[in-house]
Amino acid sequence: MIDGIRERLLVQPGRAAGIRDRDPADRLGLDGKEESQELVDTLILELRGLQERLWAEARRSLLVVLQGLDTSGKDGTIRHVFHGVNPQGCRVASFKVPTVTELAHDYLWRVHAVCPARGEIGIFNRSHYEDLLVVRVKKLVPRAVWRRRYRHVRELERILAEEGTTIVKVFLHISPGEQRERLQARLDDPEKRWKFRAADLEDRALWDAYTDAYEDALTKTSTAWAPWYVVPADRKWVRNAAVASLLVETLRELDPQFPEPAEDMSGIVVE
Ligand code: AMP
Ligand code: MG
Repeated sequence: MIDGIRERLLVQPGRAAGIRDRDPADRLGLDGKEESQELVDTLILELRGLQERLWAEARRSLLVVLQGLDTSGKDGTIRHVFHGVNPQGCRVASFKVPTVTELAHDYLWRVHAVCPARGEIGIFNRSHYEDLLVVRVKKLVPRAVWRRRYRHVRELERILAEEGTTIVKVFLHISPGEQRERLQARLDDPEKRWKFRAADLEDRALWDAYTDAYEDALTKTSTAWAPWYVVPADRKWVRNAAVASLLVETLRELDPQFPEPAEDMSGIVVE
């Protein structure tokens, strides 16, 4: 466990996120890859146990929102941090450019539909935040439309929280230099090339506009019931240890319990 991980990475509700002042290459006091891997292995085991209890309890759920620019490591985080959890009881939703059907509804329709059920862990690979990030930067809707979405999102998340979903929102924070390396690596490696789209370069050219949009989104939607955490993500091993620590700390606090059997079974013997 990285001590005090939530306080260290939290965007304090009501305060500026200050993304530009945070270091994407922060090691969070970890020595190196090896130490971090041992920590992640231990945390994954604990995560598995906690998930089992969450699933058995079947009263509450956990929603993990992963956001970040291209190559920030959303897919990698899911692969590394969640590979130990039972697939039954875990649901990943990836949010792409909305389909025609999705566009025929309000932008939260597709989101609410895939929120985790009681007992489940839901992982959002991108999320409703795209509707106030890419949509703002690429001017897909007028300013007046995206501006009110901060409030919508706070309110949707409050409903979810009050109905039993614990929400953890993670912004994977990388530097432009690290993104250059990772995009180039995608181009150079035939097995990674499929992940590259020319549009990634357009987004990269809009780095400042995206940072402004993230700064606003995190500042306006980090709440007591759905806090944002800024995870330094230039080093994958720091990122994995940080996200695993955040989740374990959150679930420990939730402290899900195996349900009590409905009747007294002490005298029952199975022949
Ligand atoms: P990827 O995560 O690399 O598979 O890419 C998914 C793409 O879908 C990204 O470029 C997102 O910005 C885009 N996307 C996701 N949600 C929306 C949305 N609501 N409106 C427009 N583009 C979106
Ligand atoms: Mg992509």
